[in-house]
Amino acid sequence: MSDFNQYDHLIDFDTLQLKYAATPKTRVCKVCGTVFKPNDNKHLSCSHRCTQRLYLARRKARELQEAEQTTPVTPVNE
Ligand SMILES: [Zn+2]
Repeated sequence: MSDFNQYDHLIDFDTLQLKYAATPKTRVCKVCGTVFKPNDNKHLSCSHRCTQRLYLARRKARELQEAEQTTPVTPVNE
């Protein structure tokens, strides 16, 4: 047996993997494809502008989805 085994209990590999998986060094922007450095795991776009575009695209997709699901209702003017 090698002497490395005596240190195994000191290193939680699962925790280390999670830590590094959670904060990748670089990520490809979902909007424009630019490689950027994310500040946290929720960061999907490279810039504020791309974040806005992603938000607007999601909102539009949700609106279209909701429009398909619900029957159109004509507004009533009082
Ligand atoms: Zn971008």
